[in-house]
Formats: sequence, C-alpha cells, structure tokens
Amino acid sequence: MSIDQFTYSPIPPEAKAIRAEVRGFLADALADVPPVRRAESWMGFDARFSRRLGERGWIGMALPKRYGGAEASPFARYVVIEELLAAGAPVSAHWFADRQSGPQILHYGTEAQKVVHLPAICRGEQFFCIGMSEPNSGSDLASIKSSARRAGDKWIVNGQKVWTTNAHRSHYMIALLRTDPDSRRNEGLSQFIIDLSLPGITIRPIKDLTGASHFNEVFFDDVALGAGALIGTEGQGWAQVTAELAFERSGPERFLSSITLLQSLVGAVGADPDALQARDIGRLTARLITLRQMSLAVTAQLAAGRNPAWEASVVKELGTTFEQDIPELAEALLDVAPATRGGAEHARVLAYLMQEAPSFSLRGGTREILRGIIARGLGMR
Ligand SMILES: Cc1cc2nc3c(=O)[nH]c(=O)nc-3n(C[C@H](O)[C@H](O)[C@H](O)COP(=O)(O)OP(=O)(O)OC[C@H]3O[C@@H](n4cnc5c(N)ncnc54)[C@H](O)[C@@H]3O)c2cc1C
Repeated sequence: MSIDQFTYSPIPPEAKAIRAEVRGFLADALADVPPVRRAESWMGFDARFSRRLGERGWIGMALPKRYGGAEASPFARYVVIEELLAAGAPVSAHWFADRQSGPQILHYGTEAQKVVHLPAICRGEQFFCIGMSEPNSGSDLASIKSSARRAGDKWIVNGQKVWTTNAHRSHYMIALLRTDPDSRRNEGLSQFIIDLSLPGITIRPIKDLTGASHFNEVFFDDVALGAGALIGTEGQGWAQVTAELAFERSGPERFLSSITLLQSLVGAVGADPDALQARDIGRLTARLITLRQMSLAVTAQLAAGRNPAWEASVVKELGTTFEQDIPELAEALLDVAPATRGGAEHARVLAYLMQEAPSFSLRGGTREILRGIIARGLGMR
C-alpha cells in the first residue's frame, strides 16, 4: 500500500514506479537489521550498504548521466530516500554527498571537480561532510574565523570546525572559510573542497549522549590546498551556503527520524487500539501526511529552480517538532520505561530516540533561528 494512493501528490508515475523496486531491495538487504539499529535513521553508517545503493543507481540519481547520475527527476530521488528512511536504512555514509555536496559541485564546480567527484559520489565511494559550524559560530555562521589565505598558487587553511558529522569517516569536506582577512560578517567568505587526508588536518570525534561518535572537531594547521580546491566564486561563499540550506532543511529526513518508533507504536497497540491510542496515533498520522505534502511542495520548487529557503525552514521547524513529539507520546501510550540495555525492543528504540531527539532541532539550524527566519519571511509576504 502506498500513501500516494490517498493524498494529492506531485510525484509523476515513472517516479512512483521505483517504490516497489526499492522496497523489495530493502526487505532483503535489511532483513537482519534490528529496530534499534534502524532507529539510527540517517545517522546509521554502513559504507558497504552505500556502495550497494550506488550499484543500483540510487545515489546522485538526479545528476546528469555523463557524471554517473541517472538524470532522474527530483521526485524519483524523493521516493528512494523516503523508502530508505521509512525502512531505517543505514544511509549516513553517502547522505551529505547525495543531498547537498553533489548538487553543490554540479552547480558551482569546475569541470575537473565534477569529473573527479560526481561519478565517485554516485558509486557510493566518496563521502562528504559539511564544514560550516565553528566554536562560537553556529547560529551566527557569518562570524566564522577559519581562513584560507593565498600563497602563490596555493591556499593555506587555518582554524577549526566543530560538530562536523562524519568528518572521521569522510573523504572530503566542503568548508566555508574566510578568504578576505579584512572582511566582516557574510562578506569575504568562500567554499572549498578539502581532501581530509591532507597533512595538517586533525579530526577528533565527539561522543553524543548515546555514547556514539557521529560528529567531530576538525583542526586545520597550515593545510595547503591546490588552486582547484576553491568551489564557486571567491567571496561568494555566503550566497552559495544559503542556497544549499534549502536542500538541507526540507527533505523527509526532517520528519522521519523517529519513524521506527511510530511503526513500533502502531504494531504494539495492534488492530484494536483504545480511544486514547487511536486519537493520538491518528493525530500523528495526520501530521505526518501534512508534513510530507509540504516537503513535496518544496521539492517541486527546487525542481523548478527556485530557492524556497523560507518554506524549507517551515518544513524543518514543524518536522523536527513532530519527530520530537513521537518519543514522548510513545512512552505515554505504550506505558513502557525506556531501556538502554535489555528489555523489550521498543523500550530500547524509545531510549535511543529519547537521547537523540533533542539534537533534531539543533542540527541544520536551531528552532529559534528557524522561527526568526519564518517571522521575518512572513513580514515580507
Ligand atoms: C547532531 C548534530 C549534527 C551536526 N552536524 C553538523 C555538520 O555536519 N556540520 C556543521 O557545520 N554543523 C553541524 N552541526 C552544528 C549545528 O549546525 C549547530 O549546533 C547549530 O547551528 C547551533 O549552533 P551552536 O551549537 O553554536 O549553538 P548557538 O548558536 O550557540 O546557540 C545556542 C542556543 O542559543 C539560541 N540562539 C542563538 N542565537 C539566537 C538568536 N539570534 N535568537 C534566538 N535564539 C538564539 C539557539 O537557538 C540555541 O538554542 C550539528 C549539530 C548537531 C546537534
């Protein structure tokens, strides 16, 4: 059964047709993966699984065929990632490259950058991380201090990034750096593709509440980059980064992070829920469907070449609120205590998500910042 049967959907028939194939693949590939691993959602890392997806042509699908993509519509990609997330597939290895680094390189990259990176991204062999945040420069990204200075035909990078998801297991970082030492705020910034194996780079994993190490501190100490590492136009890094944020904030990963628990909840209450369970699960389902419609509408705008940054902020703010509400409601409805070890499977899924959920409204821009963007945007409408 597919949700597309019951709701208005801009997904064209040829994109819908992929769904059954992806489901069949996932049923087989993930048969032995327990719910608590699936609950890691798009933070689950498995390089081999990413390569298998690459072999199927499900990474970088919307990229041109000459660079290894399938020239598929953004909706075909949407169907694939929706199925991956709904199944709790371990997609983290290729996630950032598929979602934003690939499109970024296609849009702003040189021919040499496209040839080196895009086919390898599509094969699931090159993993990227996003180097924006720094100590004291998260929400206030325009205050970053890490720099790249010209020295002959090289750029010399110094500074520090923080919270960089997957830096310790990625091949490249797309970093936002200050290239004009006299610039202020969002001027004089540029983006670079940095090979993380270069001398002078130190990567230190940071443990999160669950004990896992997804994100990192990354230090740059006189790291020499070739002239070809600059991506896009020198000094235009801010415009490039803000365009990227619409891709980062509007996808189904902004409301499906707790879907494994919602599925457990539906399974646990069974076919004959009491009135309270039916009401609360019904409300969650209605919110889920609405969020999906909104996210698809943003995808349609991106496909039409627009920059729906404001709309993407709305999706992320409402979506992460939804993801965070699921563990609270599940605990009440299942009358189960979260368990980090032992206990029922859904008690462990619950414990994992209760520890992870606070980060949902931090990563990719905090709730307060998004609400500021939404309020300012409303004022301009
Ligand atoms: C799981 C996770 C993964 C991440 N991955 C990456 C990554 O891969 N790459 C990357 O670059 N970054 C990453 N980040 C960093 C993330 O983007 C930042 O944490 C986020 O932007 C907030 O910045 P900060 O942590 O410096 O908090 P601060 O900006 O210091 O904010 C602290 C608090 O103050 C509030 N606040 C700040 N300014 C205002 C304001 N003007 N008005 C109202 N309230 C305000 C914030 O909302 C927040 O509640 C990740 C973060 C998390 C949690």
